[in-house]
Amino acid sequence: MFSIADNLKNVSQRIQKSTKAAGRLVDEITLLPVSKTQQAETLLEAYRAGVFRFGENYLQEALEKQQALLALLGPSEFERLEWHFIGPIQSNKTKPIASHFDWVHSVDRLKIAQRLSAQRDPDDAELKVCIQVNINDVESKSGVTLAVLPDLAEKIVSLPNLSLRGLMAIPKADQPDAELRRCFGLMHQAFNELKSRYGTVDTLSMGMSGDLEAAIECGSTMVRIGTALFGARMP
Ligand SMILES: *Cc1c(COP(=O)(O)O)cnc(C)c1O
Repeated sequence: MFSIADNLKNVSQRIQKSTKAAGRLVDEITLLPVSKTQQAETLLEAYRAGVFRFGENYLQEALEKQQALLALLGPSEFERLEWHFIGPIQSNKTKPIASHFDWVHSVDRLKIAQRLSAQRDPDDAELKVCIQVNINDVESKSGVTLAVLPDLAEKIVSLPNLSLRGLMAIPKADQPDAELRRCFGLMHQAFNELKSRYGTVDTLSMGMSGDLEAAIECGSTMVRIGTALFGARMP
């Protein structure tokens, strides 16, 4: 059994090694621990090991854990946590997402962005959003095509209470390394174009436990890591 602190060290070393191999700086990469299906106590253990960002996929589960952590940590420490919503979004669930998260990585249609914008409290910091791109053109998966990305980005940038920070992708699992890198490369190119157009854009959210090295070599700035930190997901 490895502790979360051990796993964190291991993942940090993988990030360090791949940034070095790619001639990049370790500071260019943000680690986003993905805590879906893990218990609040596990998030607390991660927090004690130095983690303060959490990526969550399922709204109800995330809200329950936030409540539990608020009780465990108290309001002033709880305030330090940064919550990232990374799962598919139903339009009738945007309100709690807008009020209980700092980031949303999975915006893939204008209606969702408009609702998040309207429902974000203007007194809070702007909600940081990434547009999810369907990089393999898989029919069933969330995300926009690269063809419609510029138009959606332009519309999102004009919305109040949101800050467009970048792009997110989940490439198809189990594809050959060359194909995976081709997808990551396309994402990097789209990210650079977006960044040159909008000053707020600084985040390319790609790479998970199994492919963080390839993602970092292809320009990722944020890796979303679940199993390599927390072990297998809870049923
Ligand atoms: C579950 C999940 C991850 C983490 O995946 P691991 O392979 O466990 O690291 C990253 N991103 C998204 C969108 C996820 O749903």
